[in-house]
Amino acid sequence: MNRATFKKWGPFILLLAFFSFWLVWKKPAHQEVHSTTHLAMGTLVTVSTWGVATSVEEKAVVQIFARIDQVEELASRQKTGTPVYQINHVTPGTPVVVPEELATILAAGLEMHTASHGAFDPGLGFLSDLWGFGHGLPDVGKIPAATELTAWLHERKKNTDYGIKLVQEPSGAMTVQVDGYPFTLDLGAIAKGYALDKAMETMKQSGVQNGLIIGGGDMIITGSKGGQPWRIGIQHPRDHDKIMASSEIKGDLAMATSGDYERFFMVDGEREHHILDPQTAKPSRSGLISVSIQTQKAMTADMLSTAVFVMGMEKGRKFIEKMAGVEGMLVTENGERWKSPGFQGQWLEGP
Ligand code: AMP
Ligand code: MG
Repeated sequence: MNRATFKKWGPFILLLAFFSFWLVWKKPAHQEVHSTTHLAMGTLVTVSTWGVATSVEEKAVVQIFARIDQVEELASRQKTGTPVYQINHVTPGTPVVVPEELATILAAGLEMHTASHGAFDPGLGFLSDLWGFGHGLPDVGKIPAATELTAWLHERKKNTDYGIKLVQEPSGAMTVQVDGYPFTLDLGAIAKGYALDKAMETMKQSGVQNGLIIGGGDMIITGSKGGQPWRIGIQHPRDHDKIMASSEIKGDLAMATSGDYERFFMVDGEREHHILDPQTAKPSRSGLISVSIQTQKAMTADMLSTAVFVMGMEKGRKFIEKMAGVEGMLVTENGERWKSPGFQGQWLEGP
């Protein structure tokens, strides 16, 4: 290129070079969904991102799983050494100082206990163990002796006061006091949702604007797939290979599903599952077999799906309708189904 040509075209070429560089640099490494699955909080957790450079995605995934592990280190009752394990193993009634984050989770659980008139109960650890659902091990399928269940119910009735209290000490510290049997902390229906909320915060802080995190029956979503909604399936409660409903979601939303098909064993044709009714000390027989809740916070969705499952169709529906920003999809064992008007999802195949 001679001097005259360069003078004429040079700035244009330089500008073009700059824009090409800018486009390559700005262009995400992939315009597709990338997913990573790890075992966390006793279930498979999948982190999916759309449209971020591989380096950003990889860093985000590490931070997200580290954040989920942090919540498990607080709230697991099976892992020795966690604050919840400690609370469950001190002399009954001893106040234990709890980290701020655990106090937040506990406060939410206690609030839901009151709001649901006891259907949601974060103190069912002993009962869950009795039914063989308390360990990270496969379900053992043993039905507890009737005497053990009536003894538990009897003790519960004797305690007119709920045996788990969160107290703010004059120093400002939060302490929790658990009465001991028949009260044992079990945050199995709260902690995963909370972990997903924190995981989503971490995802956004890591520079991912479009993503989805799924853990067991809970999930949290942000953004889209290049303008296309994320497509979510809700499992058919009686046929593993089928999807009962599908949702197309864009933007920020959390969804949780509680079902009697998640962890169960069959005895004499009866399905014994992991969602317990504190009124009977047995797996809930409210008639509902699947409850999905959509709302902004995964922790709220997680708690509500369990609470509504225990309440049953009629009470559960009313409970959902009373709450602003909460939508639900409910199915009974007789095939009766209900969906609140704002629920984002379509029925495909009912039970
Ligand atoms: P989910 O699968 O979210 O409905 O949560 C079920 C888990 O929550 C169980 O495995 C128990 O750890 C715990 N759980 C069982 N029954 C209840 C209940 N009525 N209220 C609160 N937590 C419960
Ligand atoms: Mg739940």
